[in-house]
Amino acid sequence: MSSTTAFIYAHPDDETFLSSCLIRQLADQGDPPSLLLATKGDAGKKNGHVSHLTNDELASVRVKEMDKAAEILGISVVEHLGYPDGKLGLVNEAEAVEAIISFINRHKPESVFTFPKDGGNGHPDHVAISRLTTLAVTSGRCPSVQRLYYHASGTLLSQGCLPAVTVDTEPDWRVKAEALRAHASQIFAIERYFGDLSVFPEQRRFEAFILAWENGVSFPPAT
Ligand SMILES: [Zn+2]
Repeated sequence: MSSTTAFIYAHPDDETFLSSCLIRQLADQGDPPSLLLATKGDAGKKNGHVSHLTNDELASVRVKEMDKAAEILGISVVEHLGYPDGKLGLVNEAEAVEAIISFINRHKPESVFTFPKDGGNGHPDHVAISRLTTLAVTSGRCPSVQRLYYHASGTLLSQGCLPAVTVDTEPDWRVKAEALRAHASQIFAIERYFGDLSVFPEQRRFEAFILAWENGVSFPPAT
């Protein structure tokens, strides 16, 4: 199934943290996006009811949680590259770029969304997936893609970048909270970031993205 938008992230839950209301809006407009995740989140923090799991067991829990979140958000297809969580920066670059190009050419998106070059929060897997996705999109081998967007991290905004896409999460906060709760094994990290999910977090109000590349032209800053 082809959709006009693809999201490419590192871990199950990145899509919900950064772009759940944007994804739900696209799905509601009849254009459900596709999602590619580089890792299954197998090295994620294990709290509470998942503390006894091995990394492989945690990976299968997180894939199921991701399926549930995908249903809530209206994602058309979720694919997993299955690279080791926490070590995405160390994988064979050419091979990983090839896998991303293959995903893009099967789903033929016009727009691709990912992390900014600094990974937003500096997580090495976030930095790596930004680099790998940028290499894939700008390789000249993904003819469907016209635009690449980076999540508007605090760093980009403080450098004066203006978001090209901004979604107010207040009207759909309950949907976002439901998708966040679907990632139950990560609930402590989620609540550390968003606070109590039953309360709308004004300080995390907007999902915003800057245009990083359009039809062969890259935009600054390159950080
Ligand atoms: Zn992540």
